[in-house]
Amino acid sequence: MDQTLAMRCFSLWLILLALVTIAPARAQDRLNVVASFSILGDLVQNVGGERVSVTTLVGPDGDVHVYAPAPTDARKIADAKLLVINGLGLEGWLPRLVQASGSKAPILTATTGIVPLQVGAVADPHAWQSVANAGIYVANIRDALAAADPADAGVFRANAQAYLAKLDALDREAREAVARIPPGRRKVISTHDAFAYFAAAYGIEFIAPSGVSTESEPSARDIAGIITQIRTERIPAVFLENISDVRLIRQISAETGARVGGTLFSDSLTGEKGDAPTYIELVRHNIKALTGALAD
Ligand SMILES: [Zn+2]
Repeated sequence: MDQTLAMRCFSLWLILLALVTIAPARAQDRLNVVASFSILGDLVQNVGGERVSVTTLVGPDGDVHVYAPAPTDARKIADAKLLVINGLGLEGWLPRLVQASGSKAPILTATTGIVPLQVGAVADPHAWQSVANAGIYVANIRDALAAADPADAGVFRANAQAYLAKLDALDREAREAVARIPPGRRKVISTHDAFAYFAAAYGIEFIAPSGVSTESEPSARDIAGIITQIRTERIPAVFLENISDVRLIRQISAETGARVGGTLFSDSLTGEKGDAPTYIELVRHNIKALTGALAD
């Protein structure tokens, strides 16, 4: 081996050594972020990319309204550098959990800046069902990540910009899809009141036997009222949800002849193998299910 070759081998070896020692250190210094539920977790992952390690408390197909935290959740929060929540009363179980964890991590309320829809005196928490609102979540997440990890602010800005462009395209897709549904047929029944923001943004009317939380069961009178409404307004389709009991909707369908249009994803992503492992796929799935059931 001549000297130059030996030198080259040596430098190569030095570079490799540097890579193996640096790589794990970089992995460890990823910003540890906890998101309260799966949809938020996906938004944080898209903005944070490689520079964050995201943990989600209420996972795929979980119901964030009635979640019962486990002791492991307190440990996850204790280690977090940033906690991202929806707010608007969605995570009623969270304040006690944060207190129990002793965490001093800053908390980002991702709906900050969104004007909430009201249901009686209560704010409707399901703001993410409007894609434009999801864009506000993303901007808030970008700024909070940059504040928690200023060295990577440029990465977060670039990731957010790319993702916001995808959300813009998705928003247009939703509008175009609804425009193809005959106006008289833009009415559906869903299980719980999770789609008011979708309704306001895209112009499909949703009627639900349960309220904005899954906590309360609809009464026999509520159900009878819905059945009458389906008949008098000739509502074409009823929808199941991935987080709610499907029996009620099947019963309503059987009594009215309104067809079951499929499953809508309201408050949760599915697992990797499901139809909605990401927020964008969730919205796309819902649009497809609605247009499929409501077209002539
Ligand atoms: Zn809900």
